[in-house]
Amino acid sequence: MTSMMTTQQIDLPEEYEETRRLAEKIAKERIAPSASERDLNRTFPWDIIRILAEAGLLGLVVSRDHGGFGGGRACFASVVEEISKACASTALILVSNAIVTKAIEIAGGEAVAKKWLPELLKGQSLGAFAVHEPDCGSNAGAITTRARKDGDYYVVNGSKFFITSAEEANLYLVLVRTDPEKGPQGMSTLLIEKDTPGLSFGHPEDKMGLTSTSSREMSFSDCRVPVRNLVGKEGEGTQVIGKTVVGWGFFGAAAISVGIAKSAADISVRHAKERTIAGQPIAVHQAVQFMITDMILGHEAAESLLMVCATKADSSPDVAAINGFKAKLFASEMAVNVTDKAIQVLGGHGYCRDYVVERLFRDARGLMLHFKTSEWLRQDIAKAALGL
Ligand SMILES: Cc1cc2nc3c(=O)[nH]c(=O)nc-3n(C[C@H](O)[C@H](O)[C@H](O)COP(=O)(O)OP(=O)(O)OC[C@H]3O[C@@H](n4cnc5c(N)ncnc54)[C@H](O)[C@@H]3O)c2cc1C
Repeated sequence: MTSMMTTQQIDLPEEYEETRRLAEKIAKERIAPSASERDLNRTFPWDIIRILAEAGLLGLVVSRDHGGFGGGRACFASVVEEISKACASTALILVSNAIVTKAIEIAGGEAVAKKWLPELLKGQSLGAFAVHEPDCGSNAGAITTRARKDGDYYVVNGSKFFITSAEEANLYLVLVRTDPEKGPQGMSTLLIEKDTPGLSFGHPEDKMGLTSTSSREMSFSDCRVPVRNLVGKEGEGTQVIGKTVVGWGFFGAAAISVGIAKSAADISVRHAKERTIAGQPIAVHQAVQFMITDMILGHEAAESLLMVCATKADSSPDVAAINGFKAKLFASEMAVNVTDKAIQVLGGHGYCRDYVVERLFRDARGLMLHFKTSEWLRQDIAKAALGL
């Protein structure tokens, strides 16, 4: 297979590179022009979801046998990065949907895969994942949403918090507790459909960024979910989340941050050359040059780390979690630093909506919280190194 250099350290195979280029074209031509308007009006990008579906980009993490593209994490990350350069909200919706498709493919069973994957890949259905709860923070082990077996059904009670695409999606991968006595072995994952009686949604959170995604609370009150909607076996919820949210989602989150940073760096370079003060472009000042250097290096270092970590995880899924943690932690903090610097390079303009970098800063900030906070990730990485 031929390959070409697309990132600082990793060659993508040519077929993956073609997909990345397709994503880049769609992002530039179809997503970027309306991204700021969607951010301002808090509009969910349904039209863009359809464009991504038509291009086959909703099947990135699904095998060819199931009608997907079958790319690895490096391919997935490269596409998410391109989409995120234009609109991080759209990239986040894509990542959430991909997590659900992955879960169905690896653990949903053939009947469920046949029923749902075609619709999810065509954008006729949309997936969201629901792990987080009001009282669990980043600790999935502390969830309390209960699923009690009753014949051919689970009866689900509890609530999930801050769920991306909660209102717009119609299929949810939900982590529940099937046996409260068994700790991590007592958790399972269920697919829950939107029209299930007893499922209701809270008001949309009034977020600082990532505003063209919605985030809502989901409440389950005696929701009866067929046993056939169990993903994996009962008691395997931790593993399913590990292979999907952790095994793929963290790479997606890292890629969103890398894409945001790249846009911020590009805008800053352009602005530094165009903005003149007393007849001189601000680019001539060493202070501005230093900021530009830090932004470029931040982006390149995070992109390189992401691709190295994604490639390691592709060749050895056992190390996917720790590599995803590293890539996400580094990239999300880098993106906040880079977008903050971009505002500084643009001066007062950077503080205004028209110049985009303030949106990038607001979007970047959310990624330091989503999936797992930086503090949790630092602890996880240190514990792995220390063998604790
Ligand atoms: C934009 C966005 C989209 C999201 N989308 C989804 C989604 O689609 N699905 C989903 O399931 N969840 C989603 N979430 C929820 C996300 O997973 C949580 O916000 C995240 O895990 C942090 O939990 P919290 O907000 O309750 O923060 P808290 O847990 O309240 O944390 C507050 C602070 O305390 C620190 N802290 C807490 N416990 C510890 C500890 N033990 N050690 C050290 N520090 C600690 C944290 O690091 C943080 O600094 C989303 C969040 C955001 C911001």
